[in-house]
Amino acid sequence: MSSKHPETLALHAGWRRDSATHSVAVPIYQTTSFQFDSAEQAANLFSLKELGNIYTRIMNPTCDVLEKRLAAIEGGVAALTVASGQAASAFSVQNLARIGDNVVSSTDLYGGTWNLFANTLKDQGIEVRFVDPNDPEAFARATDDRTRAYYAETLPNPKLVPFPIAEVAAIGRSFGIPLIMDNTSAPLLVRPFDHGAAVVMYSTTKYIGGHGNSIGGVVIDGGNFDWEANPARQPALNTPDPSYHGAVWSQAVKPLGPIAYILKMRVTMLRDLGAPMAPFNAFLFLQGLETLPLRMREHSRNALAVANFLAERRDVSRVIHPAHHKGIGAERTAKYLPKGQGGLMGFELAGGLTAGQRFIDGLKLFYHVANIGDARSLAIHPASTTHSQLTESEQAATGVTPGYVRLSVGLEHIDDILDDLSQALDGAKG
Ligand code: PLP
Repeated sequence: MSSKHPETLALHAGWRRDSATHSVAVPIYQTTSFQFDSAEQAANLFSLKELGNIYTRIMNPTCDVLEKRLAAIEGGVAALTVASGQAASAFSVQNLARIGDNVVSSTDLYGGTWNLFANTLKDQGIEVRFVDPNDPEAFARATDDRTRAYYAETLPNPKLVPFPIAEVAAIGRSFGIPLIMDNTSAPLLVRPFDHGAAVVMYSTTKYIGGHGNSIGGVVIDGGNFDWEANPARQPALNTPDPSYHGAVWSQAVKPLGPIAYILKMRVTMLRDLGAPMAPFNAFLFLQGLETLPLRMREHSRNALAVANFLAERRDVSRVIHPAHHKGIGAERTAKYLPKGQGGLMGFELAGGLTAGQRFIDGLKLFYHVANIGDARSLAIHPASTTHSQLTESEQAATGVTPGYVRLSVGLEHIDDILDDLSQALDGAKG
């Protein structure tokens, strides 16, 4: 596929037709295993002399098309689909960091990632050092000899300030440390590889699927990071792997292209820990992906219209949307989000907690759910739900105030979206 345009890649990359039946739609290869041609071929597949289908825990042809398509759209070289965004986050780090190692991460993270980093990885002996994303140099200060990766979200909610990808990626590269970006909220709007990130991951559950019907995740290898330059910095890719007869991944994979990171993840992490994406879910994500370029444009347009509308309301004390930031937030929006600011936004009701809950109860069109990135409009009141276990000051540190409402603006007609918000705001006044 010679095109570089996402609209074309989303429909064509990685697939033309089924070789056996000429099917245009990607078939759902609902099988656990694949018959080998010969004993020799089987041996070659297992020893990675030849790449091919063995068993759906490790690879599957439906997932393969999704992987190729996502890698093409993102500007990467190869991808690995997994069962959820959580699995993608965990694998992206565990593929490099081992017991006694550390990772430096932005504080502004999805709560599930925060728990994974602060508790589960800690229990596994991997320390995650959290730093303020407003200060790129904080990543350098937190780095030591055992730092294996940097990690951040492109457009973390609820603050929705774009992360300084280029600045932190450059710092990482000076140490031989890759930047892993969770780009879940901003597919196509930002391509982190264009700014120097080495790895991109998604919860495909959100915008990539786009229809709120499947959980999934993907990790994409940018193929742009020199894992061998500083072997002591990246031992997982530069020391013999006893589970593959002492293969050193950065060397062994060379004939196949710059895919050492993602191939190792497939044949060790996915082999040993499981969590593959189901072929049926891959099919649904391929369906969603076909319209992703259109949807991201419309999500961005509707959310900006909602932000501008809410900014005019007296009962709204603050609007949180990338285009409404001042200062450094505005600069980062201009630098990283010129193509559109996505469908996420928030606002603060002057009436606080009670007004927030009343507003949510008054919504008729918006769904009240703990999800984002659906074609439908979604809303949640974090202080009484997702963030209710935190104290008020902890909530404030994450950007959540008592009257804060998060919206994932969908693809309905803008007049219907604004009508629903108006009537719910009027009702929330009590
Ligand atoms: N990353 C971000 C930014 C998310 O919003 C989410 C889920 O909300 C995840 C990762 C985890 O993804 P999943 O729910 O598919 O496991």
